[in-house]
Amino acid sequence: MSRKRLATGWMGGCSGCHMSLLDLDERLLEVAKLADIVKSPVVDQKEFPEADITLIEGAIANEEHEQEIRNIRKKTGILISLGDCAVTGNVTAIRNQVTREAALERAYIEAPSNINGLIPNEEIAPLLQRVRPVHEVVKVDYYLPGCPPSADLIFYVLNELLNNRKPVLDQTNLKYG
Ligand code: SF4
Repeated sequence: MSRKRLATGWMGGCSGCHMSLLDLDERLLEVAKLADIVKSPVVDQKEFPEADITLIEGAIANEEHEQEIRNIRKKTGILISLGDCAVTGNVTAIRNQVTREAALERAYIEAPSNINGLIPNEEIAPLLQRVRPVHEVVKVDYYLPGCPPSADLIFYVLNELLNNRKPVLDQTNLKYG
C-alpha cells in the first residue's frame, strides 16, 4: 500500500483539536507507518503542499483563513473538518452575535488589559464580517465534531482512510461539545 500524504491546518481555533491529535500518543506510530505528515503547525513548511488527507481545525474568521482554506481545498484529496469550530463555528463564531466593528472595539479599546487603545490594521489579517464554518467556504468530505474531538475518533477516521476504507460516522461515535 502506498504511503499517504497527511496534513493539518489551523484556522480560527484554540489549538485544542491539534492537542487531541497529539493525544493519539503511541498510535501516532501507527499513523506514521502509513503516512508522511507533510504540513502541520509542527512542520516548518511555508507553502501548503499536495496532500491526500487534510484535517482542518478552526472556523474561517479572517481573510487569510478564507484564502488559505481555498488553497488547501485545491491541493487536498480528502478534507476533514476537525472539531466543533470547523464544523459549526462554535466558540470562534461567538462574535457573530455582534458586528465585526463592535468585536474589535471590545477587544482592542474597551478590554481592561488593553494598553494602547488602538485597533491594529496592519499586523492582523482583516476579520470577515461573519465567522463561517469550513463547509460554508469549501467542500468538506468528513465532519468530526467535538470540542475537541476525542483521540479515539480521530484515530478511527485516520486509520480507516489510511487503509483505503471509508469511515462510518453516525450517532454512535459522533458528539458535539
Ligand atoms: Fe478549541 Fe474546541 Fe474549537 Fe477545537 S473545537 S479549536 S478544542 S474551541
